[in-house]
Amino acid sequence: MKLYLSVDMEGVGGIVDIAQTDESHREYPRAQGWLMEEINAAVESALNSGASEVLVNDAHSTKRNILLDQLHPRAELISGSLRPMGQVAGLDGSFDAVALLAYHARAGNFGILAHTRAWTSVVAELRVNGRPFGETGLSAMVAGHYGVPVVLITGDDIVNAEARELLPEVERVIVKYALSRYAARLLPRQEVLRRISAGMQRALQRAFPAPFVVTTPIHLEVDFASQSMADYAMDLPGAVRLGGITIGYTAPDALTAYQAYAALFGLAGRELGS
Ligand code: ZN
Repeated sequence: MKLYLSVDMEGVGGIVDIAQTDESHREYPRAQGWLMEEINAAVESALNSGASEVLVNDAHSTKRNILLDQLHPRAELISGSLRPMGQVAGLDGSFDAVALLAYHARAGNFGILAHTRAWTSVVAELRVNGRPFGETGLSAMVAGHYGVPVVLITGDDIVNAEARELLPEVERVIVKYALSRYAARLLPRQEVLRRISAGMQRALQRAFPAPFVVTTPIHLEVDFASQSMADYAMDLPGAVRLGGITIGYTAPDALTAYQAYAALFGLAGRELGS
């Protein structure tokens, strides 16, 4: 069984602030250590629960957070940014299951460091076929395109609730309880690792849920944080102005929808000078 593990960072047990997820900050190395522990617990449990191959995708910020020499010796790694399909790069129909590790709530929701694509304030809310979507939905949509089910998600209690609504059959692991965007009730590290390990075992040893298939064509609606961000996003061919801060885009399939959202986000981000 081939498992694809998409790994973000904001949903690591213990992380409550952007500083801990920013490699230039002094608090980052400790949080990076927690991240490595959670990945390795997930990989070890997967291998003990029927997986024969595990591909880990470093899917946070610079996408160079995962230390290859500290990664489980049987896992392969996708590392580095400026790649297409971001958090699901390298995923295809040859995989049997996808797990989303250390994910976070969507832009517009409550939750630790909630956002959709980058923690900068570019997007206020993304809707896909009228439903609010975060990174959980985006990754699951691409997995579904390939006919691969999402079997497990870990993160705070808010992304857990998002996943329950969008992917009712997915196994879910709560590693912290959000009190605000920057505060949470935390669990002991050993309990976090125990929950992740047990969650992976449950996920792989039961019948997998059906893949999450989004009806095509796929209609995106993006509420940006400002009118001028929406102005910038209009540079994408096919973008439609739906309102002062809202851009629409219709994609023929999930892969195009994923990339169109990335393009809209990047174009709008020029407002911040980046
Ligand atoms: Zn991230």
